[in-house]
Amino acid sequence: MADITADDATIADAVACAAVPALLPAVAQLTGDLSLLRDDLRPDPGNLLDADGGLTPEQVAEARTLAVDALVAVRDGRIEPAPPPGEADLRRMMAFQVGDANVGDYAPLLREELALGGEDLRAPSWTLDEVAPGRTMAVAVIGAGMSGLLAAHRLRQAGVDVVVLERDADVGGTWLQNTYPGCRVDVANNLYSYSFAQTAWPQHFSSQDVLLDYFRRFADAFELRELIRFGTEVVEAVWSEDDQRWTVRTRTTEGVDGELVVDAVVSAVGQLNRPRYPDIDGMGDFAGPAFHSARWDHSVDLAGKRVAVIGTGASAMQLIPSIAPEVAELTVLQRTPAWLVPTPEYYQDIPDGMTWLFEHLPSYGQWYRLWLFWRNHEGLLPAAVVDPDWDGGERSVSAANDLVRMLLTAYLEEQYADRPDLLEATLPAYPPIAKRVIRDDGTWPATLKMDHVHLVTEGIERIEAGGVRTVDGVLHEADVLVYGTGFTASEFLVPLRVVGRHGVELHDAWAGEARAYLGITVPGFPNLFCCYGPNTNIVINGSIIYFSELEVRYVLEVLRLLAGTGQHAVDPRRDVHDAYNAAVDEANAGMAWGASSVSSWYKNASGRVAQNWPWSLLEYWQRTRTVDPDDYVIT
Ligand code: NAP
Repeated sequence: MADITADDATIADAVACAAVPALLPAVAQLTGDLSLLRDDLRPDPGNLLDADGGLTPEQVAEARTLAVDALVAVRDGRIEPAPPPGEADLRRMMAFQVGDANVGDYAPLLREELALGGEDLRAPSWTLDEVAPGRTMAVAVIGAGMSGLLAAHRLRQAGVDVVVLERDADVGGTWLQNTYPGCRVDVANNLYSYSFAQTAWPQHFSSQDVLLDYFRRFADAFELRELIRFGTEVVEAVWSEDDQRWTVRTRTTEGVDGELVVDAVVSAVGQLNRPRYPDIDGMGDFAGPAFHSARWDHSVDLAGKRVAVIGTGASAMQLIPSIAPEVAELTVLQRTPAWLVPTPEYYQDIPDGMTWLFEHLPSYGQWYRLWLFWRNHEGLLPAAVVDPDWDGGERSVSAANDLVRMLLTAYLEEQYADRPDLLEATLPAYPPIAKRVIRDDGTWPATLKMDHVHLVTEGIERIEAGGVRTVDGVLHEADVLVYGTGFTASEFLVPLRVVGRHGVELHDAWAGEARAYLGITVPGFPNLFCCYGPNTNIVINGSIIYFSELEVRYVLEVLRLLAGTGQHAVDPRRDVHDAYNAAVDEANAGMAWGASSVSSWYKNASGRVAQNWPWSLLEYWQRTRTVDPDDYVIT
């Protein structure tokens, strides 16, 4: 952290870029002056739409003046930087940001997310040698994406032998595979990053190359590459009851078969990595290049071409605006429109002033991250809960949900004020949050309004050599066809063959209904752990990295339990697993995404919500914080 030497104007410009709910705790921490956290300047933790928590312009100005005065005083040596805050002061600062009522139960979780001073409070507090002196433990992690890298790092911290098996030639997972134009993260980067590995981001929502670079640098910084076998796909994993170990069979890109025997397997293969191609007649007839958004064919020059894109999900709604300027004609085949959540900074650079704060105001980055956590996470969850007494049909599921509907509808009305036809075609007929909402800064509506962009809402009849024919008989001619049709998200651990106790294959056991205890462990499959497994997806723009950090910590805790008992196999009790999953299903049925009949990748082929976590982030933190030995069979 650099010393403050800037002139007053530079400091004032920087402070003008700050979110006040993060600014005042950071300045209070720097100066040790908690009187800065004035009651009359408290943000409303329930006001999630406003970056300053609903403070009036006068309050914001007053807060900024206080901050500038304090920073100038520190620069001039009139105030000495304070030592790190004690627990009571920290709680006061957190309470200022998220409210007194919230800080109680959340305090330890918030403290972890805050990671002040680069602390890593989710690191294992044990090593294998301490828990079971002399014992060795080998774990195979499948995948070197966000979760796999994290798992490898944590396992090694605990003194466990790790090998990571990665099909691709590099780390990064989804950020390596998705290279379509316009690909970027839609969770603010200061949040979509490991709590213990913060970095400077060029944009609020960085592009794919920046994200890939982050995970590459993470792998390098923690020397994880030496643990990874690249170009090595796991074909199957078979549990041996006699050995109490897994045999993992692999095949390299060159076709060389291999085998390794390990004590445990961590699947970190992701949910959104296997492209889903639609089942449309004539797909093989298309004469030109046709490819999926996640398998972008960069050899195809789109300039001057007629392009048709099937789908308007998160991927398509990023790539379509990106390619629109260069193509001759662009046909957008929309089946179900998405709700747009206004995000003015979606494509914006982090302003210089904010960068200055990250570099010169110690802990501003952490307090800013925590504010993002609060605004993006729990706060919106109540708006997704179904009110059984609410008579909203497919319009909304509760009064709070209806309010969100009104706000988002107003945004669409404003954007399409000059195009009622587009408003009618893009106004969703299902409740907000039932399907993934898409961030927008006006780019999507502006793209649809371009003269050469044609939004088509008729259903697709078939694909022909010259384009896509819709059910109204119209042929939408195209030279290039792009499938923005998503992923086979509910087919967990496919195409892996995983054979557990008594020769039972995991996919047979699941029979299309993937379930796991806490999304992590499966009865009958000892020492097998899933990251981003069934029902661990969060849907209101929270960061999936939060879940991965908790999942991996839990995996480590189960391994500690196992090592401590001196036994060799651990899997969840069937009744515990079943009761948990029944509760998950019941809770999901009471959420917008479970109650609405709208199609989404949150549901599997049978219509069950196989992806989403229905409860709060606090609930997952509490459930995964420690392992209850009574939940498990240890042999
Ligand atoms: P998706 O949300 O599943 O969208 C697939 C699109 O294809 C939908 O519009 C779907 O229509 C349409 N579709 C599928 N089959 C079709 C058919 N037979 N005929 C016509 N349309 C069809 O997939 P995605 O856009 O790749 O996004 C998946 C998830 O990946 C996102 O929700 C997000 O979690 C993640 N993602 C994130 C980012 C980001 O961070 N910015 C970017 C990309 C992806 P229906 O809606 O009618 O089913």
